[in-house]
Amino acid sequence: MLEEKLKLTIKEAEKLHGHLGPFLVLGVRMGETAKKILKISHENTSLQVTAKLPLRTPFSCVLDGIQATTQCTIGNQKLKIENSSKEISAKFQCTKTGKILMMTANQKITEALMKRLSEGVSNEELVWKIARTPENQLFTMKKQ
Ligand SMILES: [Zn+2]
Repeated sequence: MLEEKLKLTIKEAEKLHGHLGPFLVLGVRMGETAKKILKISHENTSLQVTAKLPLRTPFSCVLDGIQATTQCTIGNQKLKIENSSKEISAKFQCTKTGKILMMTANQKITEALMKRLSEGVSNEELVWKIARTPENQLFTMKKQ
């Protein structure tokens, strides 16, 4: 059973983003995991993010998952974006403690997602698969 809090967070991200999809939820998981590991409470004035990913949908949907969960946005300049050819990664920095978390999405998982999407598997099904996958399988993480 999926935590009620994560369900609620996904709903909030969907509202911001306009639709629900697995890459949006991947971004939600990134933001939530980073906050947990860097011990950031819900007042996130001390967090800054640099996200690196292919700047086209569905990959860019990850950005709204990050924005919805961290309140680091393009508008408040706490989210910087860089293009990449394939990889989805993000650097989360707590400006208060100086701690940095590097996260890279497991390429096997993102490739499998693209394949399933092209086969016509429903967004809904893939969304809950990403929501339920343990974070250490979704991401490679390095804390500095
Ligand atoms: Zn999307």
